[in-house]
Amino acid sequence: MDGRLTRGSLLKLGGLAAAALGTDAFKSGWFADGSAIASDTVTCVLTPEQTEGPYYIANEKVRRNITEGRPGTPLTLRLAVVNASTCKPIKGAAVDIWHCDAAGTYSGFGAGRASRTFMRGIQRTNAEGIATFKTVYPGWYSGRTVHIHVKVHVRGNVVHTGQLYFPDAVTDAAYRRAPYSNRPNRNVRNASDSVYRNGGKRSLLRVRRSGSGYVGTIKMGVHRS
Ligand code: FE
Repeated sequence: MDGRLTRGSLLKLGGLAAAALGTDAFKSGWFADGSAIASDTVTCVLTPEQTEGPYYIANEKVRRNITEGRPGTPLTLRLAVVNASTCKPIKGAAVDIWHCDAAGTYSGFGAGRASRTFMRGIQRTNAEGIATFKTVYPGWYSGRTVHIHVKVHVRGNVVHTGQLYFPDAVTDAAYRRAPYSNRPNRNVRNASDSVYRNGGKRSLLRVRRSGSGYVGTIKMGVHRS
């Protein structure tokens, strides 16, 4: 499934075919409706909880573009939130993300302390359970593999805290370009990351090229409360 499948073409597929395609289609950010995803042949997985780490700042801005003009390769994130029990999309969840900039700096800390907002933001999920963000490919900081932090709030409660990861081969390619190429030799990859090791494989973004940048998608299974 390459993500070019349209909603229309997926809707035209019959029940079993749609069910078989459900998981991949959902990962690509394109899916027909909850019933296709909720088929008996498709299992929803609870996305593992992972530490929020030391760089969370609460009550960030509700906005799609979180870059504040900072440099980097464009990255669109389509983060789907589904009920891990029923596999149905959760509409209206607040998805809260934060990550370091292309230089490996978090707003509010260290070299980024003059601002508390860049590369941080909140979006609500739509009727398909998807929150969309415009950002740049994260840089890296010492001791961690490349990641994006995420929290999901439903009706004011935090129902998920996790981290999203990138396939290392994609990161290697992305980092050959400026400004990432100014900081070669990232020192931790997924397999050797102490947080990734605890279930990170289930929080791996599906990443594909799109124009001059990338699109990253994932389905996060959460409990509603
Ligand atoms: Fe981090």
